[in-house]
Amino acid sequence: MTVGVLGGGQLGRMLGLAGLPLGLRFRFLDTDGDAPARQVGDLHVGQYDDPVALDAFAAGLDAVTFEFENVPADAVRRIARSLPVQPRAEALETVQDRLSEKRLFRSLDIPTPPFHPVTHAAEVAAALEVTGCPAVLKTRRFGYDGKGQWIVRTKADLAGIMEELPKQPDSLLLEGFVQFDREVSLIAARARSGEVVFYPLVENRHEGGILRLSLAPAPGATPALQSLAQRHVLRIMEALDYVGVLAVEFFQCGDMLLANEVAPRVHNSGHWTIEGAETSQFENHLRAILGLPLGSAAARGLSTMWNVLGAAPPAKAVLAVPGAHLHLYDKEPRSGRKIGHITVCADTPENLEESLARIRAAAPQS
Ligand code: AMP
Repeated sequence: MTVGVLGGGQLGRMLGLAGLPLGLRFRFLDTDGDAPARQVGDLHVGQYDDPVALDAFAAGLDAVTFEFENVPADAVRRIARSLPVQPRAEALETVQDRLSEKRLFRSLDIPTPPFHPVTHAAEVAAALEVTGCPAVLKTRRFGYDGKGQWIVRTKADLAGIMEELPKQPDSLLLEGFVQFDREVSLIAARARSGEVVFYPLVENRHEGGILRLSLAPAPGATPALQSLAQRHVLRIMEALDYVGVLAVEFFQCGDMLLANEVAPRVHNSGHWTIEGAETSQFENHLRAILGLPLGSAAARGLSTMWNVLGAAPPAKAVLAVPGAHLHLYDKEPRSGRKIGHITVCADTPENLEESLARIRAAAPQS
């Protein structure tokens, strides 16, 4: 059986690494001939909006999925005319736009930061009167790792920010600034039958808009918080008729969770599951889209996932640390670029902290 994946980045590469032992083969479509997934399957190089490239990619495949959410929904729709594609194009389309995503949360009674769709400076100024300062201005589409968003600290900031916006900005969203206690995410896999497995809540720490590390399970997360997150995610998955793995990022304020965004794919905050859970998010995504039974999402112990940004620490130093697992994506090192991750597994918080301190000490940029 050959699975097609739209996108050949590190998520595609890790899907391939999870699927090869299941007897699966992979074909990837990416615009870059050096895409990290090229080592775990055939790589087709082409544009996602080129019907000829899409048809050549799809020919002879058994099932198709995607590994990044900026794939045009029309590309997914075109392939879905002849092949099973999961998640559905409609689910992708809903969460590609921050406005329809937030409206979905609202329609499902899931709390979310206050938000206002805006297009130009006068509308932003009017919305600021409602949210107050600080507020966060975001492009509705194509934002990632803190790109496409600006914090408006005072009204006087606005003119400068409007100048910084791309010449033809996609429409914008102004959000109230949430003074959250921490950021958490919940990853779940939903099978074609509607069965869902939930991973434990994970705490995520960002630096400069980029995920720095994830702690799994999120320290101090109560069963009540876990079940609240599960109820929210289940509602989202059912509303989208979703099949596959999905991640929802939340802001935690006390015992309340505000939904920030949905990733309709395997997610960076789930990389710890490769060693830290009974079944990895990558394997469960494949199981879900292929109609295979889902595996347990239970944690095996404590894990911390640490993103390797810019340059990798020496493998010798990382692998000398008890419980450390190194994953490099074969990407060219560049300042701030995610080129790999390290998961540290341990049985006690003290052992985890000690191992993590050694990883940080070995890292060139920490
Ligand atoms: P996003 O691209 O929406 O995931 O935002 C990236 C990061 O910016 C989040 O992980 C938060 O740390 C921060 N952020 C985004 N929206 C808000 C908000 N409304 N209030 C406070 N912080 C935010």
